[in-house]
Amino acid sequence: MRYRGRFAPSPTGPLHFGSLVAAAGSWLRARSAGGAWLVRIEDIDPPREVPGAARAILDALAAFGMTPDEPPMYQSTRLDAYAAAFERLRAAGHVYPCWCSRAEVAARGGLHRGPCTAPPDPTRAPAWRLRVGETAIAFEDRLQGPQRQLLAEVAGDFVVKRVEGLYAYQLAVVVDDAAQGITEVVRGADLLDSTPRQIHLQRLLGLPTPAYLHLPLALDADGRKLSKSEGALAVDPADPRPALRAALAFLGLAEAAAAGSVAAMLAAAVRDFDLARLPHAQALPAPAGAALP
Ligand code: GLU
Repeated sequence: MRYRGRFAPSPTGPLHFGSLVAAAGSWLRARSAGGAWLVRIEDIDPPREVPGAARAILDALAAFGMTPDEPPMYQSTRLDAYAAAFERLRAAGHVYPCWCSRAEVAARGGLHRGPCTAPPDPTRAPAWRLRVGETAIAFEDRLQGPQRQLLAEVAGDFVVKRVEGLYAYQLAVVVDDAAQGITEVVRGADLLDSTPRQIHLQRLLGLPTPAYLHLPLALDADGRKLSKSEGALAVDPADPRPALRAALAFLGLAEAAAAGSVAAMLAAAVRDFDLARLPHAQALPAPAGAALP
């Protein structure tokens, strides 16, 4: 099967160094496999969305020489597909409504291990949780190695449809990775813990499980994730070279990072890209100044 990879940013801010690493890592993997690279804008959470961010991310990717092989998919256009998946889970008895407040779930250690004991409240909509029971999920991450998770210990009965009626990331990502025919997911290691939930959903919905490769997370000087929602500085699309150089060096491609233009750096990076050279850590400090414009 032909390789199909993707980059799936949430439009909660402009591209920052951490997301550039995920974009470049997934692009390089697809290009070096001779496959396709797709982009999906994960705009299913309107309250967290920043107007103009989706456009800014796509423009920045273009400035960094990474253009998707197919038109970007927007999750905001995919609600019918999520509703259909949710209905299948409901018809099969895998989900249950939950009227617990955030405080009640926090009091249970932050995890909801069913059944829900809160009384049904006809005046407001429930959240819908997936029953995980004793399910254990094992998978081999192509960079981080063998993984195993007892869902009840890490995720509990997790929400697939939120109180506001929004579908949860975990459900949407599974439906869309299948719809886009993704064969390998390359993304930051902050989502390593989410992968067993996604594999569990794939199995319940009869969807294929792609391969997974979780890149080390770029940390700021204080050891925190460089996150666009926490105000990390954007990379500068007007001069993409310093940030691209830093991203390639972060991915173990120091020689390619030393090439002159964006095109020369990317060509050298595709040539040199090698799983064995990628750092295997789950998190690493970003190169000094990497988040600076
Ligand atoms: N939209 C998610 C994010 O920006 C990433 C989803 C994924 O790669 O699976 O953090």
